[in-house]
Amino acid sequence: MRLIDAEEAKKALMGWETDPTDEEIEYTIDNLPIIDAAPIRHGKWVVNKWGALVCSECNWNAPMIETGSFTTRRKEYDRSRYCWHCGAKMDGEKE
Ligand SMILES: [Zn+2]
Repeated sequence: MRLIDAEEAKKALMGWETDPTDEEIEYTIDNLPIIDAAPIRHGKWVVNKWGALVCSECNWNAPMIETGSFTTRRKEYDRSRYCWHCGAKMDGEKE
């Protein structure tokens, strides 16, 4: 897959004096700069058989953090919106 900037593509393809041919469109798109971007991974925190929260994408255990005030402080799994290990976005969507 080659990622390109939609704004650059519009600039390159709009405002031609004559309608571009298929070959001209293909040439123009092929010569747009490639964007270096990693695709976003989607996952969710799931409870494994030992009761731990793990990432659905890489099976990494969610870290434990201390929450609450001094008197109610306890350890909980951190349900971050992103996996700390693989960077998956925890919005529950699978690709
Ligand atoms: Zn992960």
